[in-house]
Parts: sequence; structure tokens; C-alpha cells
Amino acid sequence: AKTGLNQTICFYEARMDEAARTRRALAKDLWAGIERKQFSLFYQVQKSVATGETIGYEVLLRWLHPERGMVPPSEFIPIAEECGAIVPLGEWVLRTACTEAARWLHPYKIAVNLSPVQIGHVDLVALVSQVLAETGLAPSLLELEITETTIIADKTRALHILRQIKALGVTIAIDDFGTGYSSLDTLRSFPFDKIKLDRTFMTEVETSPQAKAIIRAILALGRSLNVPVLAEGVETEDQLALLHLEGCDEAQGYLLGRPKPQADIHELIRRAKTM
Ligand code: C2E
Ligand code: CA
Ligand code: CA
Ligand code: CA
Repeated sequence: AKTGLNQTICFYEARMDEAARTRRALAKDLWAGIERKQFSLFYQVQKSVATGETIGYEVLLRWLHPERGMVPPSEFIPIAEECGAIVPLGEWVLRTACTEAARWLHPYKIAVNLSPVQIGHVDLVALVSQVLAETGLAPSLLELEITETTIIADKTRALHILRQIKALGVTIAIDDFGTGYSSLDTLRSFPFDKIKLDRTFMTEVETSPQAKAIIRAILALGRSLNVPVLAEGVETEDQLALLHLEGCDEAQGYLLGRPKPQADIHELIRRAKTM
């Protein structure tokens, strides 16, 4: 039994080593990947629940690694945040998304994810206003998605920066809502323009009465604060029907559209225009 346990521990340690090695290797590759243009942006549609009309697109970062293939953001974003590569990467995302969206034949809103590290280490206000000026994208077409972690670290400073960004005419959405530690406190401290209901609620809505009750409560909260709520991760017609019934404003998920490369979106908009 003793050997068995030892073997298990060794195996575990080997796996930890392996994980640490992978992280170090990825961190190194991240910096090179930025220079070698291995990153691209995908766009996922956000629609009105009531009318089915397209409201905007969330911008999702993709990394095509020369040996590893497509590395998911859940794997490389935390590493990029740890090693600081998120700063140039985040700037690239913002600039590229604004450039691409400014060329679309229809002015759809784009929603760009912000890392907490970006709020802490960059003059975000200057960056955002510079990128808007450079690309000519209307400020009202840019939305920044932040999670509660972004605010918790240094609340006073974060709120000050977000207010200045809002003053530029850019809107701010609160992402993954309902999973943080202080959701209600966050809502009270800042006038968000949108609440994005975390995907886990959709996953559980058909099986858990609690999840359904919480969705209802958040929708009521959105209505009384006069803030639209977007449900993330909508995969089935039943989920969409329920959102319709409960008066949810917007939805996003595989049912409405998978994330697609920029060229596909551009073509989609062009065809819709000429029809
Ligand atoms: P997120 O901001 O919550 O983005 C939504 C994620 O859910 C995306 O995963 C999207 O592909 C996925 N998704 C959308 N609809 C569905 C659905 O119906 N079912 C399921 N199962 N999943 C769905 P993705 O692209 O892998 O991104 C993961 C996370 O990585 C994002 O979560 C975001 O936190 C982060 N991320 C992505 N791009 C960026 C970026 O440019 N900057 C920063 N800082 N973070 C990013
Ligand atoms: Ca997001
Ligand atoms: Ca989210
Ligand atoms: Ca998330």
C-alpha cells in the first residue's frame, strides 16, 4: 500500500512539474506569438431576445500556436496575466477589434473583454481614447466587459478609471454576473450599462429551481436599476423561450451563433445589406 501511495505522489508531482513546464513554455511563446501575429479575433453575436435582432458582437481572442494548435483563452489568459503579456496583448485586442469593426458595413456594437491587470497597469483611459481616435470607431459602439475581480483589487481607483472611460461615451458591462463574491455591492458602486448573467445559470436552469429563481431575481434587479440583462451560454430553444417568458433583454450562446472569424462576420453583414 505504501508503494502505491508513493507512486501516486510521484505521479502527482510529475504532473505538477509537467503543468509548471507547460506554463513556463507558454509564457515564453506568448511574447513571441504576439510579434509573430499568431493571435486573431473571433466574434460572437449578441441578440435581442424580444426581436431576434443583432445588437452587437463579443470579441474573443484566439491563439493559433505553431505546435500546439488552437490554445483556448482559459489556458493562456491566466498565464498572460501572470507574466504581463496581457498588457500588449490586451492593447492589440482593443486596437484590432476597433479597426475591424470600424470597417463593417453596419455599425454593430463590439464588446471587448478587459483583464483586471489592464486596469492596474495601463493608462486605460488614454489607451481607449487614443484607439477610438485612431480607428474612427464611434465611442458608443465600444463596450468593455469587466468582471468583479477588476473592481475588488483597488475599488476607488478602478471606479475612477471606469467613470472616465464612461465619460468618453464607451459603455461598461459587468461580466459573469452572479458568480462573484460581492455582486450586489458592485452594482451599487457603479452605473453599469449591462449585466451579463453568467453561463452557469443557463446550464442549470432546466434542472435547478434555484438557478431559475436566481435568474428571475437578477432580471428583476436589472429592471429596477434600469440596466439591460444579457444571458450568456444560451444553447437550446427551451432556454431561449424561458428567457423570453421572463423578459430577459439580450442573449448570447451557441444557439444564436458560435464565435466566428472576422472575415465571416464581415461577409454576413455584407450579405444582409445587399439582400
Ligand atoms: P467570457 O468572457 O465569459 O466569454 C464567453 C465564453 O463562453 C467564450 O469562451 C465563448 O466561446 C463561450 N461560449 C459562448 N457561448 C457559449 C455556449 O452557448 N456554450 C458554451 N459552453 N460556451 C459558450 P472563450 O472564447 O473560450 O473564452 C473564455 C474566456 O477567456 C472568456 O470568458 C474571457 O474571460 C476570456 N477571454 C477571451 N478573450 C479575451 C480577451 O481578449 N481578453 C481577456 N482579458 N480575456 C479574454
Ligand atoms: Ca466576456
Ligand atoms: Ca462571461
Ligand atoms: Ca468567464
